Amino acid sequence: MEILDAMARHGFEEVVAIHDGDSGLRAFLAVHDTSAGPAFGGIRSWTYQREDEALRDCLRLARAMTAKCVLAGLRAGGGKLVLLDRPELDRERAYRHIGRVVERMGGRFYTGPDVGTGPRELSWVAAQSRFVTHPGPQGPGQLAESTCAGVVEGIAAALRHLDGTERWEQRTVVVQGLGEVGSRVAQVLVSRGVRVLASEIDPERAERVTSELGLERLDPARELGPVCDVFIPCALGGILHDLSVVRLHCRVVAGAANNVLASPAHGRRLFERGILYVPDFLINAGALIRGARFHLDGVREDVGSIGARIGEAVEQVLALAAEQGAPPVEVAMREAEARLALRRARRGD
Ligand code: NAD
Repeated sequence: MEILDAMARHGFEEVVAIHDGDSGLRAFLAVHDTSAGPAFGGIRSWTYQREDEALRDCLRLARAMTAKCVLAGLRAGGGKLVLLDRPELDRERAYRHIGRVVERMGGRFYTGPDVGTGPRELSWVAAQSRFVTHPGPQGPGQLAESTCAGVVEGIAAALRHLDGTERWEQRTVVVQGLGEVGSRVAQVLVSRGVRVLASEIDPERAERVTSELGLERLDPARELGPVCDVFIPCALGGILHDLSVVRLHCRVVAGAANNVLASPAHGRRLFERGILYVPDFLINAGALIRGARFHLDGVREDVGSIGARIGEAVEQVLALAAEQGAPPVEVAMREAEARLALRRARRGD
């Protein structure tokens, strides 16, 4: 990959390659945009086959974070740190080293959780840097709760968009993944009288959560098939591709997982099938809003207000998409790009 060309094409400010011989750390840190405030992005730890795969992922994720920040109206931009996991890595030393790198950036980049980086890893980073979402009581807290609130209010907005009302007690949904966010979303929807079918690949967790919350357990191999109002992806990204899009029998797809679409073209495929896809980067910004408000303004924004904010943003994008007769994901991307261009013009870029 021609790195400087790729940066110029997509408007990156800075990309840092990080190596530490003591811990075996190899990582990339990308700062996409700081035109309105610092860049925010979690640490993804993943076993990449090749170095350029990790770099590509880092750039793609950092850009998506900018879109998320811009659409959520935050005075912040996108960044990302991607760590190349491998057996010889000394994880604690590696994360402490990352903490020192982040601290040296002096607040231009704030980091936090992502795939492969949980409370334990964040506490190692936090031992070296102020610019990280602390997992303890001194941090923003309630991250999954904030994401859940955004997902529920985003679904409500989608249902109102289609039918003029939520009519919860007449709805059937499928929740894919009963982890931190999925189990909370399922719980809220059950309390509103929704019929909730749920799939989870961890059998122990599936058994425990479905019986605790009174959900109907679904075989993960058949999770896309049921006729339902809303399919709620709360597991991994990339699940909607050529083979899976045709298997869906829902009216709406709206959930927490990042990068649900294997490619932007699949947003158009859903649109052509008459399925309303609520863009992931719009509906799953709850934890980011909670974290960014905490770091930037020193407040723990109320979870209800975060949900309401996301519901409103979803409503606006769906209305605009209907007006333009275009897939909401394309409209949201164009909107994010236009707002970013405005921000950069104001700064004089
Ligand atoms: P989690 O790891 O707690 O839960 C994910 C669950 O999905 C796990 O229990 C896993 O076993 C299950 N799963 C994986 N593949 C599955 C499949 N094919 N079918 C059924 N179950 C499957 O993660 P989380 O924190 O709940 O986040 C869920 C998704 O939302 C992730 O993609 C995450 O990146 C995204 N997200 C989370 C937050 C947050 O605040 N936690 C914020 C933004 C985005």
